[in-house]
Amino acid sequence: LSPSEPDYLVGLNAEQRLAVETTEGPLLILAGAGTGKTRVLTTRFAHILLQQRAWPEQILAVTFTNKAAKEMRERISVILDKPVEGLWLGTFHSLCARMLRQHAPRVGLERSFTILDADDQLRLLKQVMEPWKLDLKRWPLAQLMHQIQLWKDKALLPEEITAAHDTDLANGQARAIYAAYQARLKELNACDFGDLMLHMVTIFRQHPDVLAQYHHRFRYILVDEYQDTNAIQYLWLRLLAKHPDGDPANIACVGDDDQSIYSWRGAEIANILRFENDFPGARIIRLEQNYRSTPRILSAASHIIAHNEDRLGKTLRPGLESDEGELVEVISTPDSDDEARIVGMRIQTLHQGGQAYGDMAILMRAGFQTRPFEEALMRMGIPYQIIGGLRFYERAEIRDAIAYMRAVLYPLDDLAFERIVNLPKRGFGNVALSRLRLTAREAGRSLQQTLQQQIEHKLIKGKSAATLAELLAALEKARKIVAKEGHVVATETILEESGYLTMWRDDPKTVEAAGRLDNIGELLRAIGEFPTMEAFLEHIALVMESDTLQEERDKVSLMTLHAAKGLEFPTVFLPGWEEGIFPSQRSLDEGGNRALEEERRLAYVGLTRARERAIILHAASRRIYANWQDSIPSRFIEELPDEHIKRYNPARHNPRPGSFFARQAQANMSRSPSSSRYRPEALSNRPTIPLGATVQHSRYGEGVVIGVEGERLSVNFEDVGLKRIMAGFVKVVS
Ligand code: ATP
Ligand code: MG
Repeated sequence: LSPSEPDYLVGLNAEQRLAVETTEGPLLILAGAGTGKTRVLTTRFAHILLQQRAWPEQILAVTFTNKAAKEMRERISVILDKPVEGLWLGTFHSLCARMLRQHAPRVGLERSFTILDADDQLRLLKQVMEPWKLDLKRWPLAQLMHQIQLWKDKALLPEEITAAHDTDLANGQARAIYAAYQARLKELNACDFGDLMLHMVTIFRQHPDVLAQYHHRFRYILVDEYQDTNAIQYLWLRLLAKHPDGDPANIACVGDDDQSIYSWRGAEIANILRFENDFPGARIIRLEQNYRSTPRILSAASHIIAHNEDRLGKTLRPGLESDEGELVEVISTPDSDDEARIVGMRIQTLHQGGQAYGDMAILMRAGFQTRPFEEALMRMGIPYQIIGGLRFYERAEIRDAIAYMRAVLYPLDDLAFERIVNLPKRGFGNVALSRLRLTAREAGRSLQQTLQQQIEHKLIKGKSAATLAELLAALEKARKIVAKEGHVVATETILEESGYLTMWRDDPKTVEAAGRLDNIGELLRAIGEFPTMEAFLEHIALVMESDTLQEERDKVSLMTLHAAKGLEFPTVFLPGWEEGIFPSQRSLDEGGNRALEEERRLAYVGLTRARERAIILHAASRRIYANWQDSIPSRFIEELPDEHIKRYNPARHNPRPGSFFARQAQANMSRSPSSSRYRPEALSNRPTIPLGATVQHSRYGEGVVIGVEGERLSVNFEDVGLKRIMAGFVKVVS
């Protein structure tokens, strides 16, 4: 290297450098975890700018999460040594949202459209389905919603669905319901998450002038985490990258087939293979040196992933010139409470030894696993944050407050209004609401307008007429305040004058209610960071999907493995490596290799997040609500290379691992109700659940037990229909 080399290129290895400097023509970078793919992409972005090949707004860069976009923006500004603005850098959805704000009229929406969250989507679907009078037990809403999303992920409009794509869901009416759902969204001037992409692809296909604008604008396209693009994302990219004049596009995609973990959302590894066909002359560069993890961690990850058959295959070697590093730990704990406690204690020890909390992460398979960790960390006074919106924006009070804001800002937003019209109680129940909805639809007006008229014409009487009138007046008042005193004051006003805050202040369960008020305080702080309420609401709609809004100070991060993609931490805890949790029950139920291999890729993603230290845990008995459930260690633990692993059990003497696992596995095979060696008292206290009992599940809600087979229940849930579930996962209601 000559002394005049620019700083940002020094330190890249030869392949990385080639990937940065090959700016022209299509390029695919295929490489394992931690090989610097994201770093290459970021450097490439800066390189294009510094070489003056394009202006910042002429580069389109796609990341998988908002957090990754933020990190990339920061890294670019470090290389450029100045803040960067106006970049087209973000997730597929945020980029599409930004485009759609400009072109919404082309698909019959106003520019001020709202973006619905998952809750609203389901509520809207339920309404739309009413005329079909389908049995929702037989045809669960969530299933139909998922089907609609899959269609959208394939860029299929209702009229494009042929027999080949159709389904017998909803009694064969799914396609018609999809059409009605889309029509209703338009009436509401709203779109759901999938529409952001669907509308943009539709516009690109039907309005070549719009597409031409973007062809003209974007001279370079960069895509991170390419292995997880689904069909519509790929289509969108291809539309943008392939110009009619046939010049080879300057599109660079980086990916790793071993980290493809979103097939359940329609991601297709085949997109990697398709790239060379769609972009003839594409160069492929492989990076093989891992700069992130110690050799031991790398070896553990490589051993696990080697059990997958469906791989493109690639080499990965340690790039750090350090020693082997610490052994990967596998800790067996008696139960899930101990698991959380042990993690907490290790965090404390590491922190006392000088490691920042922010350098540690706990990564789990499923969102519901966070709760014991939250409790343990709280008890020990360890600061933590949950990445992925599992906590803050999922909370009811936050959703309520956001619905209030939407009702202020978008008077036509009926879904928001429905959420708040009887919250606090205003004597306006479901029946009254259905009646109002009907009248409103007949008159072609919004719920707010219709309600206003009904009150004026004294069609609603008594006390509720007065309180509803107050609500409408409060909304109107807040609307005026937005312009005069700003959106923060307006939000405070509506929450105060609607009686919403009073509802929590008067709540008898004061401890919980206080927490809710704190959260609303936090929300107001967050709103204040945005110039307008619109900007905030748009941001929320996007973060609700996958990210967090909270600034990370020095806190331990808790998140799902899915949310951890692309990130790295010196210390990573991987709890819950148990059959039925990880790999998930769903993947086991599916049978075959497909789902299991995806779980294994997830294990690979998890381990390769760790730079110095990886600690895997599993509990012999897991507590869900008041019940205990036996569990056996994950098969992935057995797939680890012994020479790099330290297995131990802090609570008791550890039998030889081989025999222990063998016995446990056998117990599982025969599915006999296994007896616990660790918590006999807890297990014998476990209530057996009778047929016909009503039970509550954290996700699925309430349902009736219609079959009992040892610990496995068949439950007919009100919202999602029939599910098979372990008894430990539900709470008996009656
Ligand atoms: P993943 O597959 O997990 O997304 P990745 O391939 O995107 O990983 P990066 O996150 O870009 O990898 O890089 C992993 C780590 O290695 C980062 O800390 C990065 O700064 C570092 N790194 C990358 N290239 C080099 C290099 N040439 N020299 C030193 N460190 C490097
Ligand atoms: Mg990356």
